[in-house]
Amino acid sequence: MMREARHHFDVLVIGGGPAGMAAAARAAECGVRVGIVDDNFSLGGQIWRGDSDDNQKHDKQSDAQRGEAARWADRVRTSGVTALCELRVVHQPETGVLLAENLDGFCELRYANLILATGARERFLPFPGWTLPNVMGAGGLQTMVKCGLPIRGKRVIVAGTGPLLLAVAAYLRRHGAEIAVICEQASWGSLAKFGVALLNWPAKILQALHLKREIAGVPFATNSWPVAAHGKKALESVTISLAGRVETIPCDYLGCGFHLVPNVELALLLSCGVRNGFVQVDDFQKTTVSSVFCAGELTSIGGVELALIEGQIAGLAAAERTSEAKALFGDRQNARRFAQLLDRTFRLRSKLRSLPSPETIVCRCEDVSYSRLRGYTSWRAAKLHTRCGMGTCQGRVCGPATQFLFEWTPDSVRPPVLPARIETLAAIAGPSEMLQSQGTGEY
Ligand SMILES: Cc1cc2nc3c(=O)[nH]c(=O)nc-3n(C[C@H](O)[C@H](O)[C@H](O)COP(=O)(O)OP(=O)(O)OC[C@H]3O[C@@H](n4cnc5c(N)ncnc54)[C@H](O)[C@@H]3O)c2cc1C
Repeated sequence: MMREARHHFDVLVIGGGPAGMAAAARAAECGVRVGIVDDNFSLGGQIWRGDSDDNQKHDKQSDAQRGEAARWADRVRTSGVTALCELRVVHQPETGVLLAENLDGFCELRYANLILATGARERFLPFPGWTLPNVMGAGGLQTMVKCGLPIRGKRVIVAGTGPLLLAVAAYLRRHGAEIAVICEQASWGSLAKFGVALLNWPAKILQALHLKREIAGVPFATNSWPVAAHGKKALESVTISLAGRVETIPCDYLGCGFHLVPNVELALLLSCGVRNGFVQVDDFQKTTVSSVFCAGELTSIGGVELALIEGQIAGLAAAERTSEAKALFGDRQNARRFAQLLDRTFRLRSKLRSLPSPETIVCRCEDVSYSRLRGYTSWRAAKLHTRCGMGTCQGRVCGPATQFLFEWTPDSVRPPVLPARIETLAAIAGPSEMLQSQGTGEY
């Protein structure tokens, strides 16, 4: 696509999930020049990212989802948004400029207003055996199946916490998996309160009933979580604490995720204020940094509906259509209440802190065990002494885990925010000069 190209936008959106797509479409419909960047091969984010053709044939349920995704994709296209896929933003060399790369090279993205919509990832908690092949994040397993992993006839345990577990179990079952059990760490009591509170969101009740139908007959255990995964070369069985009783269940895959954590690294690099792990925004989704807006799971974990509303508000505000943005404040308030409900219902119980044994690997990039970390009092000290969080994922997996296990707060984020090529790293020293010396033009 490019070698050392340069793009200039009035509004630049980073992240092509529902929040980013809504932001880009609404801004472009106001007549400004908009670009949207995503590191995947197509827009859609975690929820709308395309299934393989073969999977789509089997996937009747996703018709409704596909309808909404297609409508926003259409708006992005017809409003004239420039979509730059398979491009990851790694650094901000100077205010108003981001550096992004793909396999062909790097490029400079200049903007007047920026909207961050980089979404969330699953939270993993370490327990003995969690690094065995075929133990994956619940959403990660779903993504692998979407990309073609054959799951028909495989026995799967889905465990952890949050509504994603049900969505994943339903998806895998539709594609032929046998779901041995769904283990939810939350108690029956909190789920019952959740069910009653859902009366305030009739559309969510319909979704929940639909999911319930899809997983009818699948054992669903509350107060339950994986204690250990076993296998010689790959996963063979999982020991589960099932409401106080311990049982070992044979299976081919364990999909295990403990709700979601926001991808705040780029926002932190840009010095945006973060509170309780989420990017702070005002009524118009503006961060504490002027010209930088933020939308979607970065501000709270509230699902696709909240992501779409926040994206629209950010897009309209970035295009200076504040009165149109204001019209969506009521809807956002309602959707935010649902995010708060999710947070209360699926809060992790402290018992999960005792899951790792001394030998359990916590930082899998750098092979750092639980016993090596236990003696430190901060994330920084543990990093300096053990290299925890300094591997390829740059703390994206072990950071949230140690935050829960030891109550450490991750501190500074350094560029590049994602692993980058040497050529791009060289450009971080002086991209403008490099671009000029290469004689590349402006788009
Ligand atoms: C693994 C996973 C699976 C999920 N599955 C479901 C499901 O089945 N059903 C459901 O209802 N909800 C699901 N969710 C929740 C759902 O993703 C959210 O509710 C909603 O999509 C959030 O939208 P968003 O736009 O905020 O973020 P996302 O959809 O996460 O989009 C963010 C996008 O930004 C991109 N990005 C991040 N950083 C960079 C960068 N530096 N450069 C370029 N691009 C970048 C990401 O790759 C991603 O495509 C899932 C979440 C996860 C993490």
